[in-house]
Amino acid sequence: MKSFFLSLLMLSFGILKSEKPLVVCSASMIYDMVKEIGSEALDIKVIVPIGGDPHLYNPTPSDATLVSNADLIFINGLTFEGWILELIENSGTSAAVDTVTNGVAAIQSGKYQNAFDPHAWMDVSNGLVYIKNIKNSLIKLDPENKGIYEKNYDAYKSKLESLDKYIEKRILEIPEAQRVLITSHDAFAYYGKRYGLQLEAIQGMSTEAEAQTSDIIRIVNVIKKTKVPAIFIESTISPKLIQQIASDNNVAIGGELFADSIGDKDSGANSYYLMLKKNTDTIVEALKGEKFGETKYQHESESGWLLYGIIGLSFLLGIVVLFLKLNK
Ligand SMILES: [Zn+2]
Repeated sequence: MKSFFLSLLMLSFGILKSEKPLVVCSASMIYDMVKEIGSEALDIKVIVPIGGDPHLYNPTPSDATLVSNADLIFINGLTFEGWILELIENSGTSAAVDTVTNGVAAIQSGKYQNAFDPHAWMDVSNGLVYIKNIKNSLIKLDPENKGIYEKNYDAYKSKLESLDKYIEKRILEIPEAQRVLITSHDAFAYYGKRYGLQLEAIQGMSTEAEAQTSDIIRIVNVIKKTKVPAIFIESTISPKLIQQIASDNNVAIGGELFADSIGDKDSGANSYYLMLKKNTDTIVEALKGEKFGETKYQHESESGWLLYGIIGLSFLLGIVVLFLKLNK
């Protein structure tokens, strides 16, 4: 009885922690991976909510509390979450911090020296590096449950390996000249490199920098040169600019892609696995061009005929006026 009251007292002062280790993840893709490997044995939390933009996130005081209570923290690194190191430092946490991109061959930024593209998860072979890092850190944190982590990891690993092959196979369905992916921000370089697509984005690798007129001109030129049937919006970015470019250039919106966050429950993309599968299905169906039928080019020919009609009519009118003047 005495120990019961003591426990109650300790609990009320928050001295007793929950039994399961608390693992905190910066972004939803990593959160989902950790859940796949350790949900039975861990208390797992994510900082940037699903649908949020980790590039632009502003941490809240409750995030600082969460981080300070954590036993282990997973981050993407490569300055994906530019705010996270400061948050970790200010929280005074004693948790280990694991950067899941350790061991990934990072793509260098075209614009800045010593800067790297953070979107490494878009290539499933990198996703396999992420989950290996996660599994190793979990075993180190909680060796008692090693068996659970290894068993889940093995199953997840083969699931991702078949996803990798699935994406490779599906991209080949797109006619080679149409393997051009135009999106809002430059998040698909790893995807394009692995699976064979040319990438063009309005914004750079972070959503922080605003799009410039020169970026829009560059994209329009790519659309004209390649005759891609569709361009794509992203789930965490305003679709306005892409919609405007699509309607100005007679290309279709190919659909919504998930880049910096997994989707919500109803999206069909609410896990790392499903996000990449859904993106691939959306991209392949749209870039094959069959989905949009003749509609895309109809506009062009309709407006073409209209233009020729107006020119022809003005010409005729000019002749009539000239004829009338000459006969005065
Ligand atoms: Zn991004």
